[in-house]
Amino acid sequence: MSVVSKRILVTGGAGFLGSHLCERLLAAGHDVLCVDNYFTGRRSNLAHLIGNPRFEVMRHDVTFPLYVEVDEIYNLACPASPVHYQHDPVQTTKTSVHGAINMLGLAKRLRAKILQASTSEVYGDPAVHPQTEAYWGNVNPIGFRSCYDEGKRCAETLFFDYHRQHRLRIKVARIFNTYGPRMHPQDGRVVSNFIMQALSGAPITIYGDGSQTRSFCYVDDLVEGLIRLMESPDDVTGPVNIGNPVEMSIRDLAEAVIEMTGSRSTLVKAPLPADDPIQRRPDITLARSLLGWEPRVALRDGLERTIAYFAVLRKELEMAEGSPA
Ligand code: NAD
Ligand code: UDP
Repeated sequence: MSVVSKRILVTGGAGFLGSHLCERLLAAGHDVLCVDNYFTGRRSNLAHLIGNPRFEVMRHDVTFPLYVEVDEIYNLACPASPVHYQHDPVQTTKTSVHGAINMLGLAKRLRAKILQASTSEVYGDPAVHPQTEAYWGNVNPIGFRSCYDEGKRCAETLFFDYHRQHRLRIKVARIFNTYGPRMHPQDGRVVSNFIMQALSGAPITIYGDGSQTRSFCYVDDLVEGLIRLMESPDDVTGPVNIGNPVEMSIRDLAEAVIEMTGSRSTLVKAPLPADDPIQRRPDITLARSLLGWEPRVALRDGLERTIAYFAVLRKELEMAEGSPA
């Protein structure tokens, strides 16, 4: 099937999800402009795409206006791991809110379609389980996670107001925990932490008693969901949950990683961070019916690919430091 080539902007394109999205859009024959300030993103995530005549990278902070010409915008710019988004919380809120205003302004001038990478964090520590899009959430407005949660909630508000007020074509994806190659090895997220710890034989840090749950989606499935949402009819605005509904405890994840890496790491307990959600699982009925989308990659397959990625990365890091593997 021939594809109509579009000019597509991906903000946060040097990050974990953004780099996979750029790769997929280029493979589909589009021109891709990646914009990133490299706060958590890395040039190495894009190294294999540099040299492709359809690919362009621009260093830019989305809290400042951007003047480019594109047909579609995927707005992913924002640190996603608690360690990174709490490092400079004011900048995190600015990135979500000013970033949304700037990208929506750009979309308005160009009459471009725009997708927002929102998050399951808009549900906070959810009192409804599993989470449907109709649930308004249980969010602490003044806690350590608020810069991210409330920033993303405000961005959703802006998207819907631009849609109602300026008839902008918007798409809001609520992304649940996603993992895979090119996660930042030190970003503190659970999958990257556990794999890096297991590979080095270091203790696996379980925050709290490990009974809290998450539902992990492999990156390829996630990217497919985002693209399907972008390509859906204009009356499909979302919000739509995109995630894998297979729920597990953090302790079970640790045990799976230990078993799959053949590691001798032990489990150690560490304090549960404030406002850490106790349970999280997406209801993806809407994504199934509107987008014909559901995840295909089983956790073990996804973990295998992710472990292989981190094993190579670890060797490269050790060689760069000059220490033996
Ligand atoms: P990431 O940290 O790897 O990528 C974010 C990218 O945005 C990085 O390249 C970073 O340098 C860039 N960035 C940050 N602030 C910026 C700014 N002011 N201007 C320009 N670029 C900026 O995170 P990710 O996991 O790839 O997440 C991508 C998006 O998806 C984020 O918006 C995140 O909130 C959302 N999301 C991710 C997950 C997940 O599990 N990965 C879950 C829910 C939502
Ligand atoms: N977690 C953990 N050990 C770690 C890192 C995270 O037990 O080394 C827990 C964390 O407390 C949370 C879950 O794993 O309950 C998922 O954490 P992550 O930071 O990956 O994502 P989020 O909390 O934003 O869903």
